[in-house]
Amino acid sequence: MINLNSKTKETKPRSLTIDADVFLFDLDGTIYLGDVLIKGVLDMLKALNYLGKKVFFLTNNSSKTIDEYLVKLKKIGYTATSEQIVTSTSAAIMYLKTSHPGKTVFPLGTVPFTNELEKNGIKLSENADIVLLAFDTDINYNKLWRANVLLDSGALFVITHPDLTCPSDIGNMPDVGSLAALLSSSSGRKPDIICGKPYSLMADIINNQIHVNKDRVLMVGDRLYTDILFGINNGYRTLLVLTGDTTEIMLQSSDIKPSYVYKTAAEIIN
Ligand SMILES: [Mg+2]
Repeated sequence: MINLNSKTKETKPRSLTIDADVFLFDLDGTIYLGDVLIKGVLDMLKALNYLGKKVFFLTNNSSKTIDEYLVKLKKIGYTATSEQIVTSTSAAIMYLKTSHPGKTVFPLGTVPFTNELEKNGIKLSENADIVLLAFDTDINYNKLWRANVLLDSGALFVITHPDLTCPSDIGNMPDVGSLAALLSSSSGRKPDIICGKPYSLMADIINNQIHVNKDRVLMVGDRLYTDILFGINNGYRTLLVLTGDTTEIMLQSSDIKPSYVYKTAAEIIN
């Protein structure tokens, strides 16, 4: 336990309830729901800053760019740097550039997503070698049709993340895992590669930035099969929060067991 006598009005940390040096936070369902900030979480983040802890945000949500996440966090009162945000889009770009340089991609994604690909030198084509499915909140039938034709012809099937739904303040949104299930049904193809949590590409991005002692890392998230499994897969301690996807009943019946369970991430500071 670290006892503190905060001199600032913004942060009044008394102590950390879980001792770690690097805190990895999921965003949707952990920090906010839609555009609504989860109560107490901002104070907790400010307290971690005050304590000099390293904080990263790891989101599977590929509908927004890193710049858009910076603006969103700023709006809720937290100033982050672009290095602190790791998205499944970043993971997908790293994967495409290192494993398939020069290959063409047919993206199913939002305009900011496809712009991000082009900005990073990924060539886009209607007759691509790779179908890349992201969280396409502007999806339409023609895109699904084109993707299906390419998958039938043997294109590599890459998806940014496996989440079936994305929580919001008015209820769940169908997410990439559900859209992938549609394409799997029509093409008979399962995704060949999944870029985001629970796989390790996002951890590679952090390892490229800082030296990480796995024992001192805490992964915090609301979803067992992505956030918590990601932490377990990478050798980190894990904290499940019950502000988003997972209920206590779901937790009891799951084989994926987090190191800690809190009602909200705000409880990291008491
Ligand atoms: Mg989440």
